[in-house]
Amino acid sequence: MEPSLPPGLYIVATPIGNLSDLSPRASETLRRADHILAEDKRVTAKLLKYAGARAPMTVYHDHSSDEDRRRTLDMLASKAVALVSDAGTPLISDPGYKLVRAARAGGYSVFTIPGPCAAIAALTVAGLPTDRFLFAGFLPAKTKARRDAIGELGTVKASMVFYESGPRLADSLADLASCLGPRDAAVVREISKLHEECVTGTLAELAERYATAPPKGEIVIVVGPPPQREASEKDVDTALRESLATLSPSRAAADVADRLGIPRKRVYARALELSR
Ligand code: SAM
Repeated sequence: MEPSLPPGLYIVATPIGNLSDLSPRASETLRRADHILAEDKRVTAKLLKYAGARAPMTVYHDHSSDEDRRRTLDMLASKAVALVSDAGTPLISDPGYKLVRAARAGGYSVFTIPGPCAAIAALTVAGLPTDRFLFAGFLPAKTKARRDAIGELGTVKASMVFYESGPRLADSLADLASCLGPRDAAVVREISKLHEECVTGTLAELAERYATAPPKGEIVIVVGPPPQREASEKDVDTALRESLATLSPSRAAADVADRLGIPRKRVYARALELSR
């Protein structure tokens, strides 16, 4: 029998399709926890069997009552309580946020055991910029609400990540294409499972591909950032004036060329002119 863990709430990430992705630390935490909170006891029972964990389980979701949460908080004073979702990282389009907030407010320890997350896994295979991204969860099911939601994201200068289901994929891609215009995107499906695939193309191409053939399985859509507008002469002048306030013409030219993504020789002569 392994010793139990210090009391507190343990947020444990679990596999998104391949049991071998359960980390040794996650497995050990489940075995040593005194109690486990699960979205669906039948789903989690299989994982616990795989990990060799035998702690009692209670169902927890964000619709659980304040009274349920209070009972959980009472346990945290003396017990190690692990929160898992059906798959992936709890709280990421999954229950847990209200519980973590309440645990923190009550002064209890909260630990995270990081691991699989479909959004992050999809970003790693999509081949789209990852320096800035916005995780937008599930788009609304109804057309108007979905288009409004996409419209609000239209000016975000970052890649975007959406969770989606097979039957709704084509409609979502069509709305993304019509609201966001020509952008590179990827449909990443069944990550870490037998039929894992990543299909790339423009939003319009992907919308057409899936229009008549809704795919099976679990899906993440990754959309690239808006294409960068070609810098105008005015943009160059504004940037140069800013840089020339502190830098030599040659350095200012290099700095502006870098910032605007344009060749240095296009900027250098103008930097000399403006510095006179
Ligand atoms: N908390 C989970 C995580 O960390 O990724 C996400 C839970 S959310 C309720 C479920 C959605 O995640 C699915 O509808 C799908 O969009 C995405 N997803 C989960 N597993 C996936 C997989 N193996 N491949 C692709 N997408 C997946």
